[in-house]
Amino acid sequence: MKLLQPRCYLCDMPIDNLQPFLCLLCQQELPYLSMSSCSRCGLPKNKTIQKQCPECIKQKPPWQKLIACMTYTLECQYLIKQFKFAQQPQLHHLFSQLLSRTIAGRIIQHNYSLPEAIIYIPLHKKRQSKRGYNQAQLLANGISKQLQIPLITDKHFTRVKHTQAQAQQTELGRKTNINNAFQVSGPFTVKHIALVDDVVTTGETIREACLTLSAAGIEHIDIWCIARTLAD
Ligand SMILES: [Zn+2]
Ligand SMILES: [Zn+2]
Repeated sequence: MKLLQPRCYLCDMPIDNLQPFLCLLCQQELPYLSMSSCSRCGLPKNKTIQKQCPECIKQKPPWQKLIACMTYTLECQYLIKQFKFAQQPQLHHLFSQLLSRTIAGRIIQHNYSLPEAIIYIPLHKKRQSKRGYNQAQLLANGISKQLQIPLITDKHFTRVKHTQAQAQQTELGRKTNINNAFQVSGPFTVKHIALVDDVVTTGETIREACLTLSAAGIEHIDIWCIARTLAD
């Protein structure tokens, strides 16, 4: 009996096991974000000498830098939905590899300092037990191994509010929905961390997470995510 030939998640072309998930062409054509994005919010900016966009200079987000691997196009959306909602946790291998490569590139290019530890956006325990995994945790774990930065794995940072999916909310709804959603138990021994999430849309989730982490003594937070939506 012939074993099932693996196929590209996007174009369905047969692929070999050396290049899992995507064929070479689909991987090359993913919507990678350009180096000229705003260092703070990750959104593309007009070519100015400023590293940050005018909005971020005017109203500073509660994190220092945001590194996103790609924009949230249909292909990217499809892959992330498979990863989060279609019981395809193995896709974390693809995403953590791509994101680690982007992060390493940005760190070298801009001479950024490395965080002391990596943390991830937690899921509420009800959602996590329903899904069976936390995609952000899988991603953070993969990046931690690739970049050799320790992962904060214990129950230090938890989600105490069982919120509705942010994507289904209005702008005001998103803010109140996520208010006081996170909790920190015990002090942190590190001051500079990277916070990992899968997709950053309006940024309300990471904003709330950063406020909670900052109140617990974290002084410097970088955001690392697979995708950044552009309609913000
Ligand atoms: Zn393909
Ligand atoms: Zn910005």
